[in-house]
Amino acid sequence: MTTRRQFVSDASMGLLGLAALPAFVGRADGTGLVYDPRYLDHVLPLRQGEVHPERPLRLVRMMEVFAERGLDQEVVDLALAADPMSAIRAHHTSEHVESVRGIEVSGRVAELAVAGALGAVDAVAEGRVRNAFCASRPPGHHANNTGREEGFCFYSNAAVAARHAQTVHGFQRVLIIDWDYHHGNATQNAFYDDPSVLFFSTHDWQAYPGTGDPSLTGEGDGTGLNINVHLDCGTRDVQMLRAWDSKLLSAAAAFRPDFIIVSAGFDSRQDDLLGCFDLTDDAFRRMTRTAMDLAEDYTGGRLVSLLEGGYNVEGNALAAAAHLETLLS
Ligand SMILES: [Zn+2]
Repeated sequence: MTTRRQFVSDASMGLLGLAALPAFVGRADGTGLVYDPRYLDHVLPLRQGEVHPERPLRLVRMMEVFAERGLDQEVVDLALAADPMSAIRAHHTSEHVESVRGIEVSGRVAELAVAGALGAVDAVAEGRVRNAFCASRPPGHHANNTGREEGFCFYSNAAVAARHAQTVHGFQRVLIIDWDYHHGNATQNAFYDDPSVLFFSTHDWQAYPGTGDPSLTGEGDGTGLNINVHLDCGTRDVQMLRAWDSKLLSAAAAFRPDFIIVSAGFDSRQDDLLGCFDLTDDAFRRMTRTAMDLAEDYTGGRLVSLLEGGYNVEGNALAAAAHLETLLS
């Protein structure tokens, strides 16, 4: 982490970071985990003879690996927010919400995924834990307002959580880091002209949904606060980490977030069914550590991570475990 250390040694950046901390929030310890067995109830329609890659087994195996490593004993179990609908309605159109609510079972589970994200934001914002991971599904970063599932997503979990952090807890500037293999198009769209959210996404923009052009940097007051980094098929740890060092760290220093949300998609890991990057679990450890370092510098450690993609059942579980182990460290 030499680059990180060099970055921190810049005295002016360090002072700015300290000045950014709201004085009213105390120092919290511990890592929260959001999980609810109802997340397994959502099953996407199968193509003939195929198992849908966004399947309940992703979470089943993840929770098994957490237990095998004893992580379930180390985390603080967090409750889902009781009523996510006002936050969902504040972000999505009523047409979209009513349409999704009409989808049997999955519409309700999509609400519970948002409820998990809000519960994690509440716990971190209120200082009950320092950071949190949501082992939730369905994912969210492709969910616009089309009235239907897009890219396995129904509600824009990260965007709704960011707004909740701002409107309910008074945070001013939210950094959203999206390391999923796919571009977080709905997150970009939500904040494209918004100066209160810095969005950083690494992805393969040849892949679904075909967005994420690096030349798109935001507009109006949000100009410069949308950072798209394209990475080629075969991307390895060093290329990903270099992108973080060269594009994220200076932008975060200038932005001075007071809350961090991670769209944690593990389809950027090697051997994914839908992705073609070659990241090892160590990359997820190091990205997590860097995100935590940013949180230490600017947000009093406050960081909420939300599961997005990840379709190799074993690989997804191992990378998520590496992520959670680092959050706990
Ligand atoms: Zn993805």
